[in-house]
Amino acid sequence: ENVFEEEPQQGFKDRDDDSEEFRKDYEHSEVMMEVLHQKFGLREFRPHQREIINASLMQHDCFVLMPTGGGKSLCYQLPAILMPGVTVVISPLRALISDQVDKLNALDITAAHLCSDVSKSDSDQIYMKLSMREPGIKLLYLTPEKISASRIIIDMLNGLYQRGKLARFVIDEVHCLSQWGHDFRPDYKQLGLLRSNYGEVPIICLTATATKQVENDVINILNLRSVKRFIRSFNRPNIKYEVINKKGKATGAIAGLIKSKFPKKSGIVYCLSRSDCDRLADDFNQMGVKAKPYHAGMNDKVREAIQREWMQDRFHVIVATIAFGMGIDKPDVRFVIHNSIPKSVEAFYQESGRAGRDGEVSYSYLFYSYGDVGRLKRLMQMDRNMNKKTLEAHNENLKQMVSFAENVVDCRRYMQLIHLGEHFNRRICIENAATTCDNCQNIDKYKTIEVTKQAKELCTLVKDISGNGNFTLLHVADVYKGAKIKKIMEKGHNRHPLYGAGAPMDKTDVHRILKELILKHVLQDFCTYTGEFPVVYIRLGKMFYQFYNSDSRLTISVCNDKQIRQQEPLLRVSSEEFEDKSRPATASKEVIRHSVQKQNTAKLQA
Ligand code: ADP
Ligand code: MG
Ligand code: ZN
Repeated sequence: ENVFEEEPQQGFKDRDDDSEEFRKDYEHSEVMMEVLHQKFGLREFRPHQREIINASLMQHDCFVLMPTGGGKSLCYQLPAILMPGVTVVISPLRALISDQVDKLNALDITAAHLCSDVSKSDSDQIYMKLSMREPGIKLLYLTPEKISASRIIIDMLNGLYQRGKLARFVIDEVHCLSQWGHDFRPDYKQLGLLRSNYGEVPIICLTATATKQVENDVINILNLRSVKRFIRSFNRPNIKYEVINKKGKATGAIAGLIKSKFPKKSGIVYCLSRSDCDRLADDFNQMGVKAKPYHAGMNDKVREAIQREWMQDRFHVIVATIAFGMGIDKPDVRFVIHNSIPKSVEAFYQESGRAGRDGEVSYSYLFYSYGDVGRLKRLMQMDRNMNKKTLEAHNENLKQMVSFAENVVDCRRYMQLIHLGEHFNRRICIENAATTCDNCQNIDKYKTIEVTKQAKELCTLVKDISGNGNFTLLHVADVYKGAKIKKIMEKGHNRHPLYGAGAPMDKTDVHRILKELILKHVLQDFCTYTGEFPVVYIRLGKMFYQFYNSDSRLTISVCNDKQIRQQEPLLRVSSEEFEDKSRPATASKEVIRHSVQKQNTAKLQA
């Protein structure tokens, strides 16, 4: 009801965006549109492209932050054609460079690269073209190490500069320059010499990595002057997000979904492990969905062949581990399905974001069950490369992902973007009917209730009983509900003053409150394994006393709608027959499944 009372703005807080200034018509506007249509064969600009190209043509230094697939390349390729001289593009990966150069040449745009795999005769020819009075190349691609290490290249740049033929420097994936970026490359640091050696030549830098710290580093190291910033929202308006609770395996449900909704459409199904991929792909084929697995355990030749066939639409469904997707640019991926939970909200954003690069309506489905969380934790624990600290970080990321999956109230876009530092106004999601997220679609079916009193009573219970042994979340809830269970009697928990205090409450609401207290670190869960199966016990968390001894409040949202309340997974495709009977239902799994079905969530108001 008060969802709109949050701050109304959208975009990156404290980040300037200069695009407004460049939204007008210029003398060059007509020819700019002509090049867009004739040369690139594109109908219209995507958000921010026009403004960035305008600023570029006005000789400004630019910093461009735009999500992957947003269309950053056009922002420098189009001006390169319109401006006299050579545009020098610095990009970190040879594979990306060859790909770009091939695409440009196919459009009849003169582009070349000088990576180490270019033959002597080819590079001689390139140098020759560059030394002509009117250089015969519009775009020249280089790796950063070439700029800092190759004398011939420096001489060539100096020559162009002296003849006034250096149009612009483009630094792609510019976050590589910052130690704060996730992909720091020392060679990028050398790029400071561009400004010192070629003073007035404008620089445009591009990235999809969002932090302000990276932005500041870039501006300082490159010594950009009165830089124009173009900070585009990371929202992917054409992707519809939906989380589906799964019971047991989702194979049948997913196959049914693909067959009915995406015939002959390209998509990716992400799995947890290599063996999951192989098995799922087999099952799909038996169910009439042609699919192939893709993972790091296959030999390179086979894997490359599969990727190629998929890119060429020779088959449509690729069943992959997260190893798949980096640097893959297939514009018409219509769906991304997560067969199990991703490692973090960021990972989810990236992986689901491989859908819909062409801007057409596309779908992201996350098939969620808490059982997968235990499996993922176990895989991480078995990873010998992970020290205690990284493991903790991973667990924390995973916890946030669980919170995302179990949240049935907040906007899916809002929850993702807040992780990237962007504030998103939910109204945009609600108003975009074609791709509004599942939670926004159900927005009027929930109401918020305050449960502070119950939360504190549960805290008291945990505090009092956890000193004398390990107890599960389910056990604590049973005591609170006043259940007559053997273990409760044996331990004497039926004599606790709060035994039965929660009797009038819905059991799943009790689970939900405990779950929220764990997510807020008021309580803490710890996992032990009985054979392969995780059992989760709870104890006091690091925020316990902060919550317990203060007047912090806790609210949860509960579903008003009886129908939804009772609803099983949103997609009801005979999951029963694929129910995984091999795994016994442990207490934790049981508890969480209930709380998921409950479809409510909570917020701690400190
Ligand atoms: P980024 O570098 O931001 O990840 P790219 O420049 O590689 O994105 O572009 C991603 C895809 O979008 C490419 O297939 C490109 O051809 C396409 N594209 C870019 N601009 C437009 C546009 N204005 N209209 C349609 N498609 C576009
Ligand atoms: Mg790019
Ligand atoms: Zn939404």
